[in-house]
Amino acid sequence: MPEQDRVVRTSNFQEVPYGFTSELALLEAGRCLQCKKPGCVDGCPVNIDIPAFVEMVAQEKFDAAVKKIKEANLFPSICGRVCPQESQCEAHCILGKKDEPVAIGRLERFVADWERKTDMVKIPEIKINAGKRIAVVGSGPAGLTVAADMRQLGYEVTIYEALHEPGGVLIYGIPEFRLPKSVVKFEIDLLKKMGVRVELNHIIGNILTIDELLEHFDAVFIGVGAGAPWFLGLEGESLGNVFSANEYLTRMNLMKAYRFPEYDTPKPKGNKVAVIGGGNVAMDCARTAIRTGATEVTIIYRRSRQELPARAEEVHHAGDEGIKFRLLTSPIRFLGTDNKMVKGMECIKMQLGEPDASGRRRPVPIEGSNFVQECDMAIVAIGNGPNPIIFQSTPDMKLDTRGYIQVTPDTMETTKEFVYAGGDIVTGSATVILAMGAGRIAAKAMHAKLSKAPLKKRNNI
Ligand code: FAD
Ligand code: SF4
Repeated sequence: MPEQDRVVRTSNFQEVPYGFTSELALLEAGRCLQCKKPGCVDGCPVNIDIPAFVEMVAQEKFDAAVKKIKEANLFPSICGRVCPQESQCEAHCILGKKDEPVAIGRLERFVADWERKTDMVKIPEIKINAGKRIAVVGSGPAGLTVAADMRQLGYEVTIYEALHEPGGVLIYGIPEFRLPKSVVKFEIDLLKKMGVRVELNHIIGNILTIDELLEHFDAVFIGVGAGAPWFLGLEGESLGNVFSANEYLTRMNLMKAYRFPEYDTPKPKGNKVAVIGGGNVAMDCARTAIRTGATEVTIIYRRSRQELPARAEEVHHAGDEGIKFRLLTSPIRFLGTDNKMVKGMECIKMQLGEPDASGRRRPVPIEGSNFVQECDMAIVAIGNGPNPIIFQSTPDMKLDTRGYIQVTPDTMETTKEFVYAGGDIVTGSATVILAMGAGRIAAKAMHAKLSKAPLKKRNNI
């Protein structure tokens, strides 16, 4: 796929890959063998009928192709850009055994972009008013999917979002150069045109509790994600210019710090930046830092390249943009200047031992291999957990042993009747498509249950 020049792009936030042209899309779709038992479909968490949509692309029936995808996935312009296809659908493509697999994600993005750019997106048909109301807490991919599905079924839907913009990680986390905000905003605007209400700056658990929502709504979906950052717990972690990835990316993306002073959030400044972690979040932080003036950005990751959890494309793009990788390395303390700003990290080298519970080989420190990694900014990107605010205000809703909301997997209903949950708040940090898939299951189950439930007497909220 054609993409922005690697030197030029390190000084802007525009999207890196340009997307397929029609000619490239036709050529790529023409490679598909139309397998009788297509492994790609099993590899897709929402089982898109991949051979069917790819064949439609090959026949230049782009409109039909995008409709086919949307039967299973409402937001192909988003998933085509951010799904880890190399470990999902494309990992199972038969062509990948000897050559490159069919670029399923890029084709998905192509048809969705084509539909948007040619003004072919129609407001979906809304069924007759069901006389029932749904509250959706959180506007990430899980919440947006529930809202879209339930609205189409004729329910009145209100989304409550804690932040001042809807979209969840798609807006505050994933940077513009990977997922343009305009793509996400287009989908949210469509939901609004369908009649979905969006209430921003509403922290549920604080402004209203789940029980209070149940007084006004027939069912509630909780899709609040897992946005509370984990820290390393190391000496010096509270020094100045040590950020959590969440804070750093929220400032940069949602609050547009990179456009300071046009926007009034100051830009975190660092010349030598160390990013700790190896997932998409770490790559996003590193690639943001390089675009905002850092002269040297280093990813510090405790396992080897093979275990990096980030999407292959992000690792490749980060490398192309000059980001260094210090693999098999772990920080053991942060070092500060006299005025309490970070000036480096003492690190230790690691080697891989036996596999741990995750199936990946456990990193083991190599005694005496300590060294100092200089940095004037450090970003901790080692993962996130659940924010407890909803649980604390809903004590009768059970959590699982890991501290996430417990649900019945085939309905996503929690232990509290008429309250459903899905996405990262159930699985822990996962992927956009899994959050969307969970939203779909919840909407289907909610509809099945509410269709049989009597109309509630209630006040307007
Ligand atoms: P979220 O997207 O987290 O949305 C939850 C929403 O709920 C947020 O808007 C939050 O503000 C709101 N909220 C929280 N608490 C409350 C409350 N009490 N009241 C009201 N609203 C509340 N996945 C991929 O598949 N591919 C990628 O490339 C990828 N890159 C990522 C990069 C970053 C930087 C991050 C952080 C994650 C990435 N992920 C990626 C993971 C993916 O984004 C998440 O798995 C997905 O967004 C989870 O969706 P969700 O709907 O469960 O929650
Ligand atoms: Fe086409 Fe590959 Fe799927 Fe076979 S596995 S149907 S070649 S995309």
